[in-house]
Amino acid sequence: MSAPTLALILPCYNEQDALSHTSVALNELMQRLMQTGRIAADSFVLFVDDGSRDKTWSVIAELHQQNGMFRGLKLSTNFGHQNALLAGMHAVNGKVDCAITIDADLQDDPATIEEMIEEFRNGSAIVYGVRSSRDKDSFFKKITARFFYRLLKFMKVKTVYDHADFRLMSRQVISEICRFKEVNLYLRGIFPLMGFPSSTVYYERKERIAGTTKYPLRKMMSFAWDGITSFSTFPLRLIFLLGFLIFIISIVLMVWAFIPVLDQKAVPGWASTVLPILFFGGLQMISLGIIGEYLGKIYHEVKERPRFIIEKELN
Ligand code: UDP
Ligand code: MG
Repeated sequence: MSAPTLALILPCYNEQDALSHTSVALNELMQRLMQTGRIAADSFVLFVDDGSRDKTWSVIAELHQQNGMFRGLKLSTNFGHQNALLAGMHAVNGKVDCAITIDADLQDDPATIEEMIEEFRNGSAIVYGVRSSRDKDSFFKKITARFFYRLLKFMKVKTVYDHADFRLMSRQVISEICRFKEVNLYLRGIFPLMGFPSSTVYYERKERIAGTTKYPLRKMMSFAWDGITSFSTFPLRLIFLLGFLIFIISIVLMVWAFIPVLDQKAVPGWASTVLPILFFGGLQMISLGIIGEYLGKIYHEVKERPRFIIEKELN
């Protein structure tokens, strides 16, 4: 097999400070991989500007001018990390042998890329980058991440433990991913269900090189919620199970409540009237809320809105 053409896809949202470091590191890496014949000479780096409000796009344009290997894609506004990745994959679809998505802050060690390409050349269509430890994470993040992966597993959602969006995809996988039409995009859930031979490489996740995180707690939680509700209907089944359990309990209670009536000792109770109303009222509202969550998703899916819009392109 001749050296494959590689595209590195980097989503960038307000990354003006990180890009100067990132571009130097990636340029070195790409040159080395080309010189050692690991990748073809027409391989390139694609920065996807996800509607940044800082100077990210002008930094990308400047990089492109200095070095044709750097390319850019500017989305018209902030469509979010997952959609920016998707835009990048659509842009390189059919043009490369493989692509690797990696965060612009280089927290995922780019040194692992060589290993990924090795795995690709050995026949893997998808190579997952998995962090070997969470030493750099806060205690809170560690706990919540572990809980989240356990929960997904419990709900039978296929995921790769501690794998984020650092992965290699073959030409075929890219063209297949472009056929997925879902709007509630949770990429790390989609790849494991696609099949294809895959493998895993491990790396040490580092600190952000510059700038601040673009994933505040609020975004992280809504992303996790998407991961669950976009792949599993288990919460719907839970409503049924809960309803069934309460139904059984209520029958038992009915029998139990009838015993004092036979003795003519029954006291007209406030609690027995009001508590069930509150209890069932609450339960029904929770249930409706969960159903509403799925309905909301269907609502977004049937619209089939474009998931990203490209404003400019530098090739
Ligand atoms: N990102 C993006 N759009 C967004 C938020 C983030 O393209 O709306 C990019 C961001 O520029 C970075 C990657 O997604 O390249 C991951 O974000 P970040 O590093 O801030 O997340 P963290 O590593 O802190 O979880
Ligand atoms: Mg990061």
